Amino acid sequence: MFCYQCQEAAKNTGCTIRGVCGKTDEVANLQDLLVYVCKGLSFVTLEAKKQTINTEKEDRFIVKSLFATITNANFDPEMFVKSIKTGIALRDSLKSRLQNVRFEHDSVLWTGNGKEEFEAKALEIGVESTDANEDIRSLKQYVIYGIKGLAAYVEHAFVLGYEDRDLYVFIEESLVMTTREMSVNSMLDWVLKTGEYGVKGMALLDKANTSTYGNPEITKVKIGVGKNPGILISGHDLKELEDLLEQTEGTGIDVYTHSEMLPANAYPQFKKFKHLAGNYGGAWHQQLKDFEVFNGPIIFTTNCLVPPRKDTTYNHRVFTTGVTGMPEWTHLTKQLPNGQRDFSEVITLAKQCPPPTQLESGEITIGFAHNQVLQLADKILDAVQSGAIKKMVVMSGCDARQKSREYYTDFAQNLPKDTVILTSGCAKYRYNKLNLGDINGIPRVLDAGQCNDSYSWAVVALKLKEVLNLKDINELPIVFNIAWYEQKAIIVHLALLYLGIKDMHIGPTLPAFFTPNVLAVAKEKFGVETITTVEEDMKLFGLN
Ligand code: SF4
Ligand code: SF4
Repeated sequence: MFCYQCQEAAKNTGCTIRGVCGKTDEVANLQDLLVYVCKGLSFVTLEAKKQTINTEKEDRFIVKSLFATITNANFDPEMFVKSIKTGIALRDSLKSRLQNVRFEHDSVLWTGNGKEEFEAKALEIGVESTDANEDIRSLKQYVIYGIKGLAAYVEHAFVLGYEDRDLYVFIEESLVMTTREMSVNSMLDWVLKTGEYGVKGMALLDKANTSTYGNPEITKVKIGVGKNPGILISGHDLKELEDLLEQTEGTGIDVYTHSEMLPANAYPQFKKFKHLAGNYGGAWHQQLKDFEVFNGPIIFTTNCLVPPRKDTTYNHRVFTTGVTGMPEWTHLTKQLPNGQRDFSEVITLAKQCPPPTQLESGEITIGFAHNQVLQLADKILDAVQSGAIKKMVVMSGCDARQKSREYYTDFAQNLPKDTVILTSGCAKYRYNKLNLGDINGIPRVLDAGQCNDSYSWAVVALKLKEVLNLKDINELPIVFNIAWYEQKAIIVHLALLYLGIKDMHIGPTLPAFFTPNVLAVAKEKFGVETITTVEEDMKLFGLN
C-alpha cells in the first residue's frame, strides 16, 4: 500500500505498511482498485452520455465509491470487493450498449473476479505507479482528493433529492483526466477548476439542507445527559438523523448527536423533536473513550470511524449505514416501506441499555450559518466599523488526534479579545467549550456547522465585500487559519482558493502529497503557508 491522502500520513510522507488511521494494507489496495474501476467506468459513462444513454446508476455508483474511499469512512475489505465487482459489471454492461466506440485504456479493458485477482491488480495501479513526473502525480492526486471530498457533498445532497448533473460530469472527466498525459500548467488549471466545482457542490448541499430542514438559527445545545436510554448518531447525513428521530419519537429513547452531527441541533425541523437531547462527547477521534461510556447504541452515517481497540466493549452497539463500514460492526441496509432507513434493530437494543454516563455539563451555542450571520450583518458591520471587532479568523476544518493540534486551542485562547472566530467542521471541538465571551452580544466563536458548511464563510465574506464596497475579498478583515485532516477539507480548501482567498494558513502540516515544486506554486500563487507557532502566526496575521 501507499497512501498519503490525509494529514496523518506516516512521517508526513505516506503510509506504507498500515495506515495511521488503522486502514489495513488490504483495504488500502482495494480502495485504490475501486478508484481505478471508477476511472474505467467514467470513460464509458462519459461516452454513454454523448450517446444519450441514461447513466444515473453509474453516476451514483462512482460518487458513492469515491466517498467510501475517503479517510476513515470504510474499513471493510468485503464491502470493497463487492463494490469492485459491481463497478466492473456496470462498466461492461454499459459498454455493451454503446455504438461505434473503442476504448484503449486498461481501466476499461481489464477484468478480474474475486479477492485474489483484485489484490494482484491493485499492486499494479497504486498511486506510485502513475505518472513518473512527481509534480504531475502530486497535482493529479490533489484533484482526486478534491473530487473524493466533492463526492461526499454530492451524495449528501442526493439523499435529500438534490442533484446537479454537471457535478457528475466533472467528477468523471477528472477521473479520466488522471489517465492522460498532462502538463503542469494544465494540471494547475484543473486544480482550480476542482475548486470551482467544489463551490457548486457546497452550494448545492447548502440548498438541499436548508430547503429541507430550514435555515440554522442560534441555538443553545446541552452537552450533559438525561435519564433515558440514548442513541448516539454521528457523521454528516441529516436524512439519517431525520429518519431516526421519527422512528424514536414517543419510545422513551433520547437521541444525542456526536461530532459533526452537532450542527443538526440548529435546524428548525430538528428542533421540533423534543427527544433530540443534545450533543455527547467530542470530535471523532475521541470516540474510543466516549463510546465506552455512552452505554447505548451508536450509528455512523458517514466518516469518521476509528477502528476499535482489542479491549473495546462497544462493538455490538455500533451500526454503520451508507458507504461506511467496519468488519466488527453491523451494517444496516434494510428500509421501511416508506423508504426510510429501518432503525428497529437499533431501537430494540437501546431499550435494553442504561442511560449514557455524564461526561460534561452545560451548553454550547451554535447555529451561525450564513443566513443567521447575515441577519446579524448590521450588528457585525457596526462592530467592525467601530473597531470593536478588529479581525475575524476563519478557523474551520477538521480535528484529529495529534498533539500538535493543541496549537488550535492555544491559538483560540490567545487571540485578542477584539477578534471573532468563524468556524465549521470538527476543528471547533478544540475551542467551542472555552469560555471566550462575546463582543457587543456577538459570541466570539461563531459556528457555521459541518465542514461542508464552510461555504457559509464564503457567502458571508462575499456579502461583506459587497457591502463594504471592496475590490478584493482579501481586503476584508478576515484571515484564514484552517486545520485539515481528510479530503472534504481538501475540497473546502480548493473552493476557497477558487474564490480568490489568499494567504491561507493550513495545518498542522501541509499535505504530504505536495511535492516541493507544487508547494512552491501554492505559496507563490496563493500565499498558502503552514502554521508555525501561535506567537509567530499571531504576528503574521496582525493579531498581536
Ligand atoms: S488515510 Fe491517512 S492515515 Fe490512513 S492510510 Fe491514508 S494517509 Fe495513512
Ligand atoms: S470535519 Fe473532517 S475530520 Fe471532522 S468529522 Fe467532518 S469529515 Fe471528519
